[in-house]
Amino acid sequence: MSHWLIAGASRGIGLEAARQLSARGERVTASARSAAGVAALKAAAPEATTLQFDVRNEAEIEAAAAQVSDPVDALIVNAGAYGPQRQSSTDMDFEGALDLLSVNTLGPLRVVQAFLPVIKRSARPRIVMMSSILGSMSLEGTFNVAYRVSKAGLNKIAQCLAADLKSEGVIVVAMHPGWVRTDMGGADATLDVRDSVAGIIRVAESLTLADTRRYLDYRGQDIPW
Ligand code: NDP
Repeated sequence: MSHWLIAGASRGIGLEAARQLSARGERVTASARSAAGVAALKAAAPEATTLQFDVRNEAEIEAAAAQVSDPVDALIVNAGAYGPQRQSSTDMDFEGALDLLSVNTLGPLRVVQAFLPVIKRSARPRIVMMSSILGSMSLEGTFNVAYRVSKAGLNKIAQCLAADLKSEGVIVVAMHPGWVRTDMGGADATLDVRDSVAGIIRVAESLTLADTRRYLDYRGQDIPW
């Protein structure tokens, strides 16, 4: 049994990950930012230990991290948002974009830094940063510029973490979950959340230090940075 920590698990991919892992008898600690989110989590994964923090709030994250003392084998930093209505390169809601960067880019790093002491105590520590293919510098397309920038920045953070933590045996990857039918992905998305999450878990379980600094999709296939 491994100890999994899912950050951002009130709904969508994070909630399903907590549900599937709990159902398999894995040890799960999972977070939501609101009381309602924690309640949803408890309903879907009654065995999970719950934490409450907003990934924009360093003090809340640190207080939550202080409640976890057992080694964490796999951290999935899943929390993310899609951003403001106006986010094209010719018409940007700058305040909204700054908030998005705090959630999608710096938020995951806040979480990793706070939980790093318990992650390092695992025998095979893995960190999965939930990115998106829209963060790829190689992908054409110009819609949702703030979201793309936020995930491209997250990818750079994943690369830097992978390099900085490799000597300590911590595996870090960026993950694209596929286009998934959730509130964010919408009803037209091609992938059921159960299939995406089953793939993410399979990939996370298989990671070794040779995989660190990869940018993978939920099937384990490489995506060009
Ligand atoms: P949802 O919109 O369904 O869920 C987003 C989750 O992130 C919710 O649990 C939400 O909590 C949480 N969250 C948002 N902002 C914060 C915050 N400031 N602090 C803490 N938690 C927060 O999205 P998905 O499940 O679809 O997406 C999960 C991840 O996968 C995201 O990082 C997303 O960018 C990425 N992704 C999704 C794709 C898709 O097709 N669905 C495609 C590519 C990437 P709350 O309920 O409180 O709002």
